[in-house]
Amino acid sequence: MTLDDLLLRLVATPSVSGQEGPVADLVQGLLAERGVRVNREGHNLWFELGQGGKRLLVNSHLDTVPPNEGWSAEPWSPAWKDGRLVGLGANDAKGCVASMLWTALALAEHPETLGGTAVFAFTAEEETGGKGIATLLERLGPLDAAVVGEPTGLQICAAQRGMLILRCVARGRSAHVAHGQLGENAIHKAARDISRMEVFRFEGHPLLGAPRAQVTQVQGGLARNQIPDSCEFFVDLRTTPDLDHDEVARFFASQLESEVHVHSKRYLPKATAPEQAIVQAALAASGKAVPVGSATTSDWAWLGEVPAVKAGPGDTHRSHRPDEFLLMEELHKGAAFYAALIPGYFQEARSPEAPHA
Ligand SMILES: [Zn+2]
Repeated sequence: MTLDDLLLRLVATPSVSGQEGPVADLVQGLLAERGVRVNREGHNLWFELGQGGKRLLVNSHLDTVPPNEGWSAEPWSPAWKDGRLVGLGANDAKGCVASMLWTALALAEHPETLGGTAVFAFTAEEETGGKGIATLLERLGPLDAAVVGEPTGLQICAAQRGMLILRCVARGRSAHVAHGQLGENAIHKAARDISRMEVFRFEGHPLLGAPRAQVTQVQGGLARNQIPDSCEFFVDLRTTPDLDHDEVARFFASQLESEVHVHSKRYLPKATAPEQAIVQAALAASGKAVPVGSATTSDWAWLGEVPAVKAGPGDTHRSHRPDEFLLMEELHKGAAFYAALIPGYFQEARSPEAPHA
């Protein structure tokens, strides 16, 4: 089997979030053929290669979003053509999985040469934030660093935005429109709050810029001739690592006339200091000079304080879109990147002259 075949087989095996069983079977089987014993819980797989030393998590996700309308190709009948493979998940994130798995299959031949322990985890439900890496962390044991595989064009993301969603409710008093003086219009109240969103300013982050509050949904009013007594709207903030989600929610509550409820705050913003061994090793492996920030969240959000980077082959702008594809050149560079990064990290973390070891 070649690396190109490996990606083709992964993409040809449907794995919409929650239905990763068959693709997990495929990955588990390929590793078993090389004598690697794989742990499995639900549709999550993990295994260790090497022994002792630092412990590096190498993680990507097996699941995909469902195919949306607009696909002109078959989402699950991939073929390599003109150096590209079109299929659901080819870019997000099966190119990363194939690159990491290819590296693992090679390392399985001589794991003792690694100089540390690579903890591989191919996990489920990244796209839905369900029964994936977050449910597995304790089972993985202590971790010194992590690389999360997502399509970044092999840029080294050392910061990633979080996501805070607030549900705001403006309360009023209903009345017949003809007797408007008896009522209090909740939609007008919500509108005053919504118009304030554009003036809120947050401090910028060196890699991520400043977050902006975006109102994404509004609902209110029961009848055309009745003054509405409530209006609900959602605010979505893509946060930076210096913002605490609870503090931001309290700030909004203090500024708005509407009630402010935290709808979702668990996707935490993340950043890793550039001098950390994992950042330095990843830059060296990819040939990039400096790390970048990423606007999208990922499974990194669940990894707590473990120093991590997000990096992998592909382009984030192709994700969740019709006719998603990966270039053969990207795939091969991805596999070479992880093959260099894993031993490179162990060396970087061990190196006595490194001030950040
Ligand atoms: Zn992804």
